[in-house]
Amino acid sequence: MKQQITILGSTGSIGVSTLDVISRHPERYQVFALTAHSRVDELFQQCAQFKPKFAVLGTSDAASLLADKLRSHDIATKVLFGAAALCEVARDADVVMAAIVGAAGLAPSIAAARAGKKVLLANKEALVMSGQLFMDAVSENNATLLPIDSEHNAIFQCLPHDFNRQQGGRGVAKILLTASGGPFLQRDLSTLGQVTPEQAIAHPNWVMGKKISIDSATMMNKGLEVIEAHWLFGTPADQIEVVIHPQSVIHSMVSYQDGSVLAQLGNPDMRTPIAYGLAYPERIDSGVAQLDITKIGQLQFYKPDFERFPCLAIAFDALRAGATSPAIMNAANEVAVQAFLDGKIGFLHIPELISSVLNAVENRAATDLETIMQQDSLARISAQQFISRVK
Ligand code: NAD
Ligand code: MG
Repeated sequence: MKQQITILGSTGSIGVSTLDVISRHPERYQVFALTAHSRVDELFQQCAQFKPKFAVLGTSDAASLLADKLRSHDIATKVLFGAAALCEVARDADVVMAAIVGAAGLAPSIAAARAGKKVLLANKEALVMSGQLFMDAVSENNATLLPIDSEHNAIFQCLPHDFNRQQGGRGVAKILLTASGGPFLQRDLSTLGQVTPEQAIAHPNWVMGKKISIDSATMMNKGLEVIEAHWLFGTPADQIEVVIHPQSVIHSMVSYQDGSVLAQLGNPDMRTPIAYGLAYPERIDSGVAQLDITKIGQLQFYKPDFERFPCLAIAFDALRAGATSPAIMNAANEVAVQAFLDGKIGFLHIPELISSVLNAVENRAATDLETIMQQDSLARISAQQFISRVK
């Protein structure tokens, strides 16, 4: 039986890479549903190639456009729209690639977990926002959660197969989360305030969506990943160490009590972790070239500079504060990144905005999704107030 796959966010960078891997294994996988926010033409092309049962768009207007196009090409894909439809197609597949960017991906990702599916998680913001609830939904419903973020996929590969936090750590001393340092690792600190969105998006090693590219430049991406690692692997904040590794060849490491350090290496191409997640525990061709280690020659490692990257310190603090603090931080960051991309605030306003929102919004207990979404909304309002003050 072929596995039925839903890709949430199929027109994005991760979505496109996932379809590339799937297209190499038509005997294993069948696309059940594809979703996009607004890019009708791209979603149409994907439907023409993969013939999914369902396609989901953000609005009814976009959905009508796609439905007309599909009809005129005799493609039987049924078109739906809106947040409830995202949850529906997430619940009805065998495997869900959660690759929507930001808080918008939380509800369908958690719906897939609650339906006991195999969830391939790229959408780190979902886990940052709702960590405990998400992990509870996974364990209570016998879902399988496999990390697609390259670092967490690497850590997952380096942990013992029977690793789980109930068994008391299995000799794991520390997780070493590698970070490229982004485009501004070497830039003169006094000029950071003037950097443009174009400069911030130009990542040295990875081609990714805009939001995660800016997050990489501020290193909030690594901050989100620290919180993600905490939830995925049950590791306390002080056992997660961020290591700058500009080549992005080692995708992360696990340090054991006996002195062993296990690492996963590879070319920086998301198709490797995607293929690993899809086929786990098997390994399949991903289209990624074999790593030529002698060509790379040198690997470097540094401690991160928290003055250059204040977002990293903010994220560690939010993790330690717990409750809805990470959700508030995430929402503030989403607004800040968009405002920076829109030219409304400067690069150095991003950490300032996030700190200001964390101070302004009360850190309530993260007891249910409604509370988390309320705190997310309050954080967005507070973030807009900050932007008005800056202007
Ligand atoms: P992207 O911007 O390229 O794609 C985002 C996708 O989400 C698109 O298909 C878009 O249509 C959809 N989307 C956006 N807003 C939406 C909304 N409000 N409702 C419904 N759908 C919406 O992003 P990406 O780089 O592919 O990243 C996706 C996720 O994967 C992010 O959480 C990111 O942090 C994570 N991730 C990405 C990479 C990478 O290499 N790109 C690596 C690790 C983790
Ligand atoms: Mg990553």
